[in-house]
Amino acid sequence: MSLTLGVLSIQGDVLENVLAVKAAIDALDIDGTVTSVRTPDEISNVDGLIIPGGESTTMGRLSVANGALKILKEKIEQGMPVLGICAGMIMLSKTAQDKVVGKIDQPLLDILDIKLERNSFGRQRESFESDISLNSIGIPSFNGVFIRAPSISDVGNDIEVLSKFNEKIVAVKKNNIIGVAFHPELTSDISLHKYFVNLTNTLKN
Ligand code: GLN
Repeated sequence: MSLTLGVLSIQGDVLENVLAVKAAIDALDIDGTVTSVRTPDEISNVDGLIIPGGESTTMGRLSVANGALKILKEKIEQGMPVLGICAGMIMLSKTAQDKVVGKIDQPLLDILDIKLERNSFGRQRESFESDISLNSIGIPSFNGVFIRAPSISDVGNDIEVLSKFNEKIVAVKKNNIIGVAFHPELTSDISLHKYFVNLTNTLKN
């Protein structure tokens, strides 16, 4: 059976992720397609989903307005693999605060038991790249692109920490759910997208 991957296209970095997933499917030689999805109907048809980086308050509010948030939560809780990137990881979290302005009234999926700080490394002009490692998922070295990135200050018992940068947690996993603070779609290295496509393939079969 063919695999259908989706990239949530409500707000944010959609095209780069579609291209990276396409490249990953080709490199793995898997029978699969990738499509951008927005409506509850479209979301219900994918086997695995990327929630891209962008602006989490806007993404959350628009997802409530079009009914996407509800079906996303249902599907992820039922086991659909999801990769939340930056704002996408914020969407997955239970609690998020901005480093400077504190608590923001923003709709979250309330799924990942992580305590998250938005804009943890500063604003746009403090964006940076750094080599990080994701050893436990077989990626010893990865170029992390951090843009107004969040970090995680605390995790629940059942959350696996995949990576830290300067003592701050920047990647986590819990079963079918992965969250990363950096942008893998903005590098030419598709290893994290490959890992996610493989995970979706494994959990589907
Ligand atoms: N700072 C953004 C937010 O808090 C996330 C930035 C990003 O996705 N690159 O929503």
